[in-house]
Amino acid sequence: MNEHETHQQVALITGANKGIGRATAEQLAALGMTVLIGARDLRRGAEAAAAVRVAGGDAHAVTLDVTDPATAQEAAEWIEEHHGHLDVLINNAGITGSGQVAPEDAHDQIPSSVELDMVRAVFETNVFGVITVTNAMLPLLRRSPAPRVVNVSSAAGSLTIASIPDGPLAGLPASAAYTPSKTALNALTVQYANELWKDGILINAADPGYVDTEINNHRGYLTVAQGAAVLVRLATLGADGPTGGFFNEDGPVPW
Ligand code: NAP
Repeated sequence: MNEHETHQQVALITGANKGIGRATAEQLAALGMTVLIGARDLRRGAEAAAAVRVAGGDAHAVTLDVTDPATAQEAAEWIEEHHGHLDVLINNAGITGSGQVAPEDAHDQIPSSVELDMVRAVFETNVFGVITVTNAMLPLLRRSPAPRVVNVSSAAGSLTIASIPDGPLAGLPASAAYTPSKTALNALTVQYANELWKDGILINAADPGYVDTEINNHRGYLTVAQGAAVLVRLATLGADGPTGGFFNEDGPVPW
């Protein structure tokens, strides 16, 4: 057997104990990948991993709080020891800062009155956490024949869409926390792509759409499986796939 016939693909998804991350883990496992369920609460991660195994997939839980560099490093060491490489990293963990509140009710993020501590907490998870986890995993990704990174962004982070008068986001309260954190994540995606394209690492931002999860108090109208579809597509791009882009299920999203 040659190297490719023996290569078992391994995917790490952060914040995969529930929501879109968990559905992404289920779909990647169904494609035959070994999925590592990143969760800050190992017990809840283990429950999600057990459910994937019951469905016939190969899944394991890994303790990973994206705001804690020590857990990212320990997760990388665990993956090194058990698998030796990583093929797919999905930076999915995210918070709005407003708790489980629909975006239309997130008045505590209005720029002129926002608490700076909340902005810091949101950036700590949604932006700095992505740098922490990506950099911890890069040595393992470099050992993959086709490494792919997906940063889970949001249409809310699109400056183009946010600037359209009477556009789809026009009715929402202005946000100094969640929305700019996703814009910063998009910028980060382009910068990582510019650095890593020459190493064959494809890294893109994904907009899952408005998905029924706890993050928006179940106001979303898409199922988690539907939201996960674009993440899975970007995680399984061929060698000629894009890098440094921003996509939803229908195609490119304007920056
Ligand atoms: P969710 O059900 O609330 O899931 C969020 C996940 O992130 C949970 O597993 C949560 O873990 C985890 N998480 C939060 N902070 C973390 C940390 N510091 N370290 C590790 N994990 C952490 O929400 P979701 O809708 O599936 O959101 C997933 C991603 O999609 C987020 O990045 C979100 O911004 C993005 N998104 C969602 C929508 C939507 O409509 N739902 C739209 C656009 C983008 P705990 O269970 O421990 O809290």
